[in-house]
Amino acid sequence: MSGAGKVLLIYTGGTVGMLPSDGANPESPLAPAAWERLSGFTSALDTLDVEPVMYPLPLIDSSNMTPGYWLDLARVIGDNYAGFEGFVILHGTDTMSFTATALSFLLENLGKPVILTGSQIPLSEPRNDALQNLVTSLMIAAPSARALAPVPEVCILFHDVLLRGNRARKVSASAYNGFASPNYGALGWVGTHIELNAKLIRPLPERALHVHERLEDKVVTIELFPGIKADILRRIFDTGVRGVVLRTFGAGNAPTDKEFLQAVEYGIRERELVIVNVTQCGEGAVAMGRYETGAGLLALGVVSGADMTPEAALVKLQFLLGRGDDPDTVKQMMQRNLRGELSPVKD
Ligand code: ASP
Repeated sequence: MSGAGKVLLIYTGGTVGMLPSDGANPESPLAPAAWERLSGFTSALDTLDVEPVMYPLPLIDSSNMTPGYWLDLARVIGDNYAGFEGFVILHGTDTMSFTATALSFLLENLGKPVILTGSQIPLSEPRNDALQNLVTSLMIAAPSARALAPVPEVCILFHDVLLRGNRARKVSASAYNGFASPNYGALGWVGTHIELNAKLIRPLPERALHVHERLEDKVVTIELFPGIKADILRRIFDTGVRGVVLRTFGAGNAPTDKEFLQAVEYGIRERELVIVNVTQCGEGAVAMGRYETGAGLLALGVVSGADMTPEAALVKLQFLLGRGDDPDTVKQMMQRNLRGELSPVKD
């Protein structure tokens, strides 16, 4: 196998590699540090049967992540694809699920593991979860070293689970198990052994990797709340956005008052927006036909986001609109499962 045992370790920043920004003050805010400054904490990597090759990108707190950075990451993986068995991306936890989702769409026909990981406590601190997350990720990214099955997906490895990236969400700002996949089972579990859940892992692709190079960033998320004003929606629709993720109540429900529905209609008919409905709930799916409060949206042409995460709905819209498809095609494709991000729509 080409690149057997070799993993490209792409370092983007995040808590995993942070140190206090003022060296003289351990209480100063954390900021990402160059990998060389962390060498005293990574000696466990020297004994691994996996050969990580470091690829540093601009170091950021992932709250500063952008779609442009996702495109750079996809390009780095595409350019180095043949030379490595897999890829590990060290990333901040705050927006890790967005990045994992973006890469899942940008890397079409992915046939190698791309594992994102990070930590709640930096490598440099004694109670850190960083080293274990990193070591396990490297092992999963180089499956030939220990006869693991290959996982040809963009995943998040965090604490004791391996999750499909476009199904994962950050669910805790402090717990070691900071990520969950509410609508899809774990692809693997990590304890004294690494166990993979072969039934849920995507099959190897039949075609060669294709790296997409565009994302539309004129996409927004609007979260409904009781009393939301229709004129605020209209003003957002007038800003030039092309896609909207509407985070609705329960099974995809929204107010039925005339002004609200007219604003949604204005967005769809006059502004040619693609509006996608995802639930505010932590798990479950949108079913717009179920209540009158959802049926109004369905009748206007709002698209069901089914059981997609809000992150998946947003980034998928960026991806499909970035491909230059017309709104009707984007609506159809939003409801189609492209990368394992969605279960069949039940409306
Ligand atoms: N603010 C950090 C980041 O996302 C948090 C983390 O990595 O856990 O970069």
